Amino acid sequence: MHCPFCGAADTKVIDSRLVAEGDQVRRRRECVSCKERFTTYESAELLMPRVIKQDGTRQPFDEEKLKAGIIKALEKRPVSVEEIELAINSIKYRLRATGEREVKSIALGEEVMKELRRLDQVAYVRFASVYRSFQDINEFREEIDRLSINNAAEKKADESQ
Ligand SMILES: [Zn+2]
Repeated sequence: MHCPFCGAADTKVIDSRLVAEGDQVRRRRECVSCKERFTTYESAELLMPRVIKQDGTRQPFDEEKLKAGIIKALEKRPVSVEEIELAINSIKYRLRATGEREVKSIALGEEVMKELRRLDQVAYVRFASVYRSFQDINEFREEIDRLSINNAAEKKADESQ
């Protein structure tokens, strides 16, 4: 690999270790020419299915876009960057696990909602109201009711412990 400092064609690996629970290899490299050191990370590139939009066009899976949507829904909510990363990873994992080469954008949206619902219900409702564009106010209210019923049930379960 080329040296990012002087452009020399040859660099050598001086240290190599597994990181991110074994999903990545971190390599410390040194340029043979200028002796500068730098780090590279290597991870498997797993193919994500392409996304079929509502109008039938296909797009490559766009992680940045997915992340931006989730972050927007979570604006000013008490959810850490780490939790967001984990949510994105599990969405990607589930999409790959389908084994499909293409997924409908609506299915992707459902996955996002599943994660948001678990992370933060305010964010979930924000996202769902935009994404699902609830047909009417009753549908929206039903969703809110469903959430409060779930909350009440959870609370009861907590209290009985
Ligand atoms: Zn160099």
